[in-house]
Amino acid sequence: PADNELLGRSTWTFLHTTASYYPLKANERQQIQMKNLLESLSIFYPCNWCSKDFQKDIIKNPPIVNGRENLMKWLCERHNEVNRKLQKPEFICETKILDQRWKDGPED
Ligand code: FAD
Repeated sequence: PADNELLGRSTWTFLHTTASYYPLKANERQQIQMKNLLESLSIFYPCNWCSKDFQKDIIKNPPIVNGRENLMKWLCERHNEVNRKLQKPEFICETKILDQRWKDGPED
């Protein structure tokens, strides 16, 4: 349980940070590679029930990989899906707020 929390926190950090550095407009190759990354992660994520639910969630809500803003918003919504399941507070999925948390840091 403690391990799953650390794994979760680390994985979300990796995913949101990676999305925030994704190209503003991704080319076809980058879009395929990002889709592959997310699909592979959902299959190999080493927490069985998390992996099962995440696979179902991304089939229902396919990744939007055309550029960083849409990808960040999509990922934020997937994370909120898990937050709801765990009764954790939801995050506001707006570019400015997401950038502040995952790219730029606070203003001062
Ligand atoms: P985390 O949820 O890890 O969030 C870390 C930080 O991200 C927060 O402090 C906040 O600053 C920021 N944040 C929060 N919400 C958002 C958002 N929507 N968008 C952007 N940033 C945000 N745990 C389970 O018990 N059961 C599961 O089924 C499960 N499924 C998971 C599936 C995936 C794909 C992943 C990556 C993790 C999953 N986890 C699951 C782990 C769980 O989501 C948490 O990571 C873990 O419980 C630790 O929570 P935390 O409170 O440290 O914050």
